[in-house]
Amino acid sequence: MSFEIDDLPVRDELRGKSPYGAPQLDVPVRLNTNENPYPLPEPLVERIAERVREAARGLNRYPDRDAVELRTRLAEYLTKTGGHRVGVENVWAANGSNEVIQQLLQTFGGPGRTAIGFEPSYSMHALISRGTGTGWISGPRDEDFTIDVGAAEKAIAEHRPDVVFITTPNNPTGNAVPARTVLALYEAAQAARPSMVVVDEAYIEFSHGDSLLPLLEGRPNLVVSRTMSKAFGAAGLRLGYLAAHPAVVDAVQLVRLPYHLSAITQATALAALEHTDTLLKYVEQLKSERDRLVAELRAIGFEVTASDANFVQFGRFEDAHAAWREILERGVLVRDNGVPGRLRVTAGTPEENDAFLDAVRELKKEQS
Ligand code: PMP
Repeated sequence: MSFEIDDLPVRDELRGKSPYGAPQLDVPVRLNTNENPYPLPEPLVERIAERVREAARGLNRYPDRDAVELRTRLAEYLTKTGGHRVGVENVWAANGSNEVIQQLLQTFGGPGRTAIGFEPSYSMHALISRGTGTGWISGPRDEDFTIDVGAAEKAIAEHRPDVVFITTPNNPTGNAVPARTVLALYEAAQAARPSMVVVDEAYIEFSHGDSLLPLLEGRPNLVVSRTMSKAFGAAGLRLGYLAAHPAVVDAVQLVRLPYHLSAITQATALAALEHTDTLLKYVEQLKSERDRLVAELRAIGFEVTASDANFVQFGRFEDAHAAWREILERGVLVRDNGVPGRLRVTAGTPEENDAFLDAVRELKKEQS
């Protein structure tokens, strides 16, 4: 007799749902999860080994529960690059920005409360909302994937959400959200409830524009979330963080599991932060490859959404999933995020991007 998830007494809101699942396929060119294509440089690998060896000697003890040294270094990085002074008291860290988002929803969302995002956007905002018992509201986005301020303000006034997500640059579309839009939505959210506004800056290092960190000044209900998975090329490390008013940092500590960040994670992240300058050099390279992808995709005849991230959304396809499969058959894995007629490609190495461009050039020829 088969026995499946729905035969278990799982919570009603989980019935019939699928887990987050970007395919992890073994193909020559993987450009589907917005990872950094460059492995960490060898001197950093050595430094990680050194720091981890040292941490291993203390593994009989629990790690620093408040990750003070790591938060101090992250605050220094943000102050240096974000145009705004951030101290250790403004920063909190967790296992990936997904965990940061989960802690924020456990703190400010939960049963009887709601969160809104402007879709298409990062699908985990909705999934983590569901996992924390927070009701999800799908807010509107324009045909060209920008956020229409009037329509978004209206949705906030109507639904009075407890948490508002704004992803900039947005995933999967790639476009950045102007500061004036974030400010207008912050005001609308405060007038409606007041609620927390979470600006997800996972890809900000790849943007043509600046971080929205300076907006934190005088706005205690604003949170900026970041990650080391993209620009730092350390998706496998699982290190995300946020910057906000110190009261927010105090609040998320009410829900975090004790010792959530292992001593090994803290040691590895500290080693990576010692090599920030080298790691950020790859960002410049990836930005120019991203711009090349945009230009070449347009030259081939695709419709391309302007990108401030390390990925590009392109189309249109009559059947995006069929196109995804045909590109895969040519050895290149891109992403079908379910946006009608569009696919998303992550900027890889120049060779990987050439392989991708060859594949879609062929596809285009066959279709015309
Ligand atoms: N936010 C956005 C917008 C993302 O695209 C991602 C990863 N795809 C994350 C957050 C989560 O990243 P991580 O948990 O690796 O920090």
